[in-house]
Amino acid sequence: MTARLLDGPTVAAAIRQAAQPEIAAFTAARGRPPGLAIVLVGDDPASEIYVGSKMKSGAEAGLRVDLERLPATASIEALLALVARLNASDAHDGILVQAPLPQAMGRHAAQRVFDAIDPAKDVDGFHPHNAGLLVQGRPHLVPCTPAGVMVMLDHYGIPLAGSRAVVIGRSDIVGKPMAMLLLRRDATVTICHSKTPDLAATAASADILVAALGRPGFVTREFVKPGATVVDVGINRVTDRALAQSLFEPGSPRLAGFEKRGSVVVGDVHPAVAAVAGALTPVPGGVGPLTVAMLMQNTVTAAKTRAGI
Ligand code: NAD
Repeated sequence: MTARLLDGPTVAAAIRQAAQPEIAAFTAARGRPPGLAIVLVGDDPASEIYVGSKMKSGAEAGLRVDLERLPATASIEALLALVARLNASDAHDGILVQAPLPQAMGRHAAQRVFDAIDPAKDVDGFHPHNAGLLVQGRPHLVPCTPAGVMVMLDHYGIPLAGSRAVVIGRSDIVGKPMAMLLLRRDATVTICHSKTPDLAATAASADILVAALGRPGFVTREFVKPGATVVDVGINRVTDRALAQSLFEPGSPRLAGFEKRGSVVVGDVHPAVAAVAGALTPVPGGVGPLTVAMLMQNTVTAAKTRAGI
């Protein structure tokens, strides 16, 4: 069996296209486009890339996107003051604070900042108010990555009701909201994590397996029931040659890419799983583009709700 590839850019384009009339109607009605403020603290290279792609995508969709930068030396108080200013801004419907924050801000800085964002503008869906609504089965602003996975599964007609789903990873950003969204659609959901015994056997019971643990190529063939749908959320940059060689066949284009650049981006799912799974999201080109598209969608949702539309 060779897995059917679930293509992220195709689904992301469909999400953006569906949002277009909503953005045009909002802009015509309110005399301004939906507005998104992105806060970037410091100069983490990966964050620069993520923020750049969110800004480009937002501007192309016709949103107003403003970047607010703070230096890596900024205090948590300065960041909270910026969030308070954006909470009060009429031009901004959505606020996103890019994680990770500098370590000097303290261990709980990210949660303190997410807690300070007006829940009505919480386009990342990380505020406890929005997390609570999701748990209660009445979601409003849902974390972008798991929300995008649901759109992907629906786009490709993957049956959810009555299916057995296993989510590996229990973060507030991906694993937990992913499990809640699948549960809401009547899947029977198991959440696995770093202390789960018999992980491979549990995973192999899944019709839908979501890997969101941040371990390159961790999910190997024995984790996957033949024909299962496998969603690979992981984004890992591999710089170790032995690891790259354990993931990709000799002579494969991905290994050649590693030799050229000294690194390769891989998911949490081993490429050999493609021979067992029924459907699989590739990395890159799977879940990643959906996260950005859902951020645009959440900004439009926040803008319309704030305007009472
Ligand atoms: P995280 O580190 O916050 O959480 C990882 C989770 O995996 C934890 O709950 C942990 O218990 C579990 N875990 C870790 N090692 C494990 C093991 N050996 N066995 C079983 N469970 C284990 O990470 P996160 O923020 O949820 O992100 C997970 C991955 O998804 C990362 O690779 C991240 O880069 C990627 N990610 C991708 C997108 C996207 O747009 N595609 C968005 C967010 C995160």
